[in-house]
Amino acid sequence: MPTAVALPSFSDVIARFDPVMGMEVHVELGTITKMFCGCSTEFGGEPNSQVCPTCLGLPGALPAVNQTAVESAIRIGLALNCQIAEHCRFARKNYFYPDMPKNFQISQYDEPIAYDGWTEVTVDTEDGPRTVHIGIERAHMEEDTGKSLHVGGATGRIHGASHSLLDYNRAGIPLIEIVTKPIEVEPEIAPAVARAYVSGLRDLIRALGVSDARMELGQMRCDANVSLKPSGTTTLGTRTETKNVNSLRSVERAVTFEIRRQASVLDAGETVIQETRHWHEDTGETTSGRVKEEAEDYRYFPEPDLVPVAPSRDWVDQLRTTLPEPPAARRARLQQEWNFTDLEMRDVVNAGAAELIEETIVAGSDAAGAKKWWLGEISRTANERGAPLDAAGITPVDVARVETLIKEGALNDKLARQVVEGVLAGEGSPDQVVEARGLAIVSDESALGTAVDEAIAGQPDVAEKIRGGNMGAVGALIGAVMKATRGQADAKRVRELILERLNS
Ligand code: ADP
Ligand code: MG
Ligand code: ZN
Repeated sequence: MPTAVALPSFSDVIARFDPVMGMEVHVELGTITKMFCGCSTEFGGEPNSQVCPTCLGLPGALPAVNQTAVESAIRIGLALNCQIAEHCRFARKNYFYPDMPKNFQISQYDEPIAYDGWTEVTVDTEDGPRTVHIGIERAHMEEDTGKSLHVGGATGRIHGASHSLLDYNRAGIPLIEIVTKPIEVEPEIAPAVARAYVSGLRDLIRALGVSDARMELGQMRCDANVSLKPSGTTTLGTRTETKNVNSLRSVERAVTFEIRRQASVLDAGETVIQETRHWHEDTGETTSGRVKEEAEDYRYFPEPDLVPVAPSRDWVDQLRTTLPEPPAARRARLQQEWNFTDLEMRDVVNAGAAELIEETIVAGSDAAGAKKWWLGEISRTANERGAPLDAAGITPVDVARVETLIKEGALNDKLARQVVEGVLAGEGSPDQVVEARGLAIVSDESALGTAVDEAIAGQPDVAEKIRGGNMGAVGALIGAVMKATRGQADAKRVRELILERLNS
């Protein structure tokens, strides 16, 4: 439903209210098999081809815990500075939904595997970067549901559909749900902090190697809780929970919208209803979902078919040694090694290019050259195709090879761009593209000399100006030579040749 009245502006709202946020993020673990059975987790299989009695919830089937999933959960917990439970149990969360064949989800309730942690995020403010401490309430293990496909309606929603199809391939894929403590920051940076938190969490998950955390594939899904309280007061207001906000940009937009919407509700003298809300990417608005269940509605009880998980302290200590360098420390280190400004480094991080640049440098490029390609040509192509940078069709080794060819004088910038274009178009490696498109620089001196002589002969007036000391005119002759060689000459060498001939 479109909003009937105009909402107050964000700056007006935060002058009068303090927003409080809570982020719930679900991450699909990249394990080979499901959480409680041996079925494959591979994406994109024929519907209902990756199922068994356990993940279909058939009577008598028994679950068994996936050890790798527990290991990933512990590593995530440790990376978020959490306590790791010495002993914890799974619980049944009971509710009926067609994509959940057991009519309960195996989750964790009051005994999460990890709890009471923290992380830090940095956002840009007018006064420079500001680092914010974010408390982590808990991280717990659960299983994913299947997928419903509503057929026959215009929108793909159940409303107006003629029937629904169910695919249980996703049912039982391991999920980790990570829940923050209420986040209270300076109101003006609240939406940016929400985004930075999700972005930082994604980087951390990837650095741990436990999931690709691709939001566009639903491997990472974010629910954003927001409430308002009058400026300077402490009692928390009623929150709404906006479900499945599936891009970083949407996190920021959804939080901003909800802050403005709740203010307009309060301004009208009404109360905010505790409910889930749907996010609409197209309109940038949220609409009412269902009234929020209370925990008792789910009739949680300990899962009787699974033994408790009691990770030994030795195991936890050993897993602690496998943690990667924290993303913020890594970012600072790389920025220094690469000699990038804050602004350059921010662009690199926002583009998700840090790792690719690192690999390109390992393959022989310098930092500036690597950055130029990944943030330029390759980013543009990836954006056009809606593909992530690392799936644009060129590898760090290719990029490093192009840089080497430039350094060796075999390519100039213009030719190099055509080579990269060719690689991105799937024409092969840089050397294959150079060969196939005939892109090597014309360094054959006699061929270049002929082109220079022709350019001078073709524009005697320009040549005369240069002889008279007007160096600004050289460009016209260089242009003519570049044109004659289809851009495949070294402009610096062409300039030298022109001046040699005209000054002698
Ligand atoms: P539920 O299961 O009802 O979704 P959770 O405890 O899983 O509840 O998550 C609630 C999230 O909302 C947490 O991140 C919590 O910190 C946050 N939160 C709790 N109360 C408020 C509030 N009044 N305003 C904003 N966020 C809140
Ligand atoms: Mg929740
Ligand atoms: Zn199964």
